[in-house]
Amino acid sequence: MQPLAWDLDQYRRGAEGFLEEIDREYYLQGAGHKPDLAIEPIYERHEELFDREAVERVGETRSAAMGEEATRLRYLHQFALDGFLGARTREIEARTAELEASLEIEVAGETIAYRMAPVVQANEPDAGRRAEIEAARTAVLAERLNPLHLEALESAHAACSELGWPSYLDAYSDVRALDLRALAGRLGEFAEATEAGYARTVDPDLERTVGAPLAGLRRSDLARFFRAAHLDELFPSDKMVPALRRTLSRLGIDLDAQRNVTLDTEKRPTKSPRAFCSTPRVPQEVYLVMPPIGGREDYAALFHEAGHAEHYGCTEADLAFEFRHLGDNAVTESFAFLLEGLTASPEWLERILGAEGAAAAIEHARAARLMMLRRYSAKIAYEVELHGPGVDLKAMPERYSALLGERIGVPWPRETWLSDVDPSFYVACYLRAWALEGDWRRELEGRFGDAWFGDREAGEWLRGLWAQGQRREAERLLADATGGSLDFARLATELTAV
Ligand SMILES: [Zn+2]
Repeated sequence: MQPLAWDLDQYRRGAEGFLEEIDREYYLQGAGHKPDLAIEPIYERHEELFDREAVERVGETRSAAMGEEATRLRYLHQFALDGFLGARTREIEARTAELEASLEIEVAGETIAYRMAPVVQANEPDAGRRAEIEAARTAVLAERLNPLHLEALESAHAACSELGWPSYLDAYSDVRALDLRALAGRLGEFAEATEAGYARTVDPDLERTVGAPLAGLRRSDLARFFRAAHLDELFPSDKMVPALRRTLSRLGIDLDAQRNVTLDTEKRPTKSPRAFCSTPRVPQEVYLVMPPIGGREDYAALFHEAGHAEHYGCTEADLAFEFRHLGDNAVTESFAFLLEGLTASPEWLERILGAEGAAAAIEHARAARLMMLRRYSAKIAYEVELHGPGVDLKAMPERYSALLGERIGVPWPRETWLSDVDPSFYVACYLRAWALEGDWRRELEGRFGDAWFGDREAGEWLRGLWAQGQRREAERLLADATGGSLDFARLATELTAV
């Protein structure tokens, strides 16, 4: 007699049910409908999805599959691996979050909640005080939180070895089907190519936002630079949602008539201060939640999340579960960056907001993008070392500080060597999404002109891509749609061109 066959379809249904429950819980809590985030009972109900046997079964089935089924199973394999590592580290993460929420820092006699400190720092016009806040934050991080972060990292590394991969790096190179070392190498070339033009590109905006050029910059000034408070007046809060409605409507999308995409703009006391998108059922139940605030960063965040919401909301309902809910997030991030990028486009600012003198907004966006890409180029190089086989963890704080400091051009602290790491090599999604967004934009401009966002046919072309969900990886989707390939060298030229 054969042993009872492992039921793959049942696993898929379980995974889809789990994501529906967890995403709805994140929506309800983030939108301020309920105060607490009760994810623990959801994990408990679905714990069989994330045990070691489940990851191994999906992996075995995957290695015997071919073609599109192999892609589906690879996406499912990543889902199982993420969940397995999450289950191993969830208890530590909960302790870390609880401790973090209780911590306070002391700056010149004033007490600030640890979690509020970055916001206070970004809004602080005095550079000396910004540096004091940052020093107090990193001291608390090193002393109180890093021991827990380290415990979580070691536990994730050990879990990957248990599953038979030589390292965390090898595990994610496998389930993402990406050569992460090679990608880090390509970004190293990007950093070299932008080195000469870097200071020239960012200096005018740094002078304007923090009052110092790159050569005199401190890390504690960066949040202030990204905050770019001087641009807020270009982005009035009462025009924010109408601007989104008008932009989508010109692309042929009637936001109010889209019954599967709920725009949640209501004021609630415990609502998240940042816009977010939640997708319990793709494409039937998608939420776009935004705070009723405004300012440049909120516009950018709302349009970013709207890119996710429309990508998921326009996904074909009859695609396989893995292609609707899982897959290569570089794809959904590229569409989020594409809509976000509109808020720094001269044509969009003029036509939709009627903004005069938008040059400062465009200059800031370019400087911020270049610095962000150089920062992420360092992050991927660092994470490849941190998660590689036989890593010497004792040497990593220094490596982190050296790599980040060199690429960003600012003395960089060692203390954030653990807290500055996103799980599952998500860094590779952002980096490829930035390149892909450039490709979508150039293609749209070539086909429909610089004001492509006002063209229904452009909307139709985009919906054709969105309908495919994340069936194809970023590289494949681009090759099929335009015949192009992800090119960081072109991005380097574009960002540093005089
Ligand atoms: Zn995003």
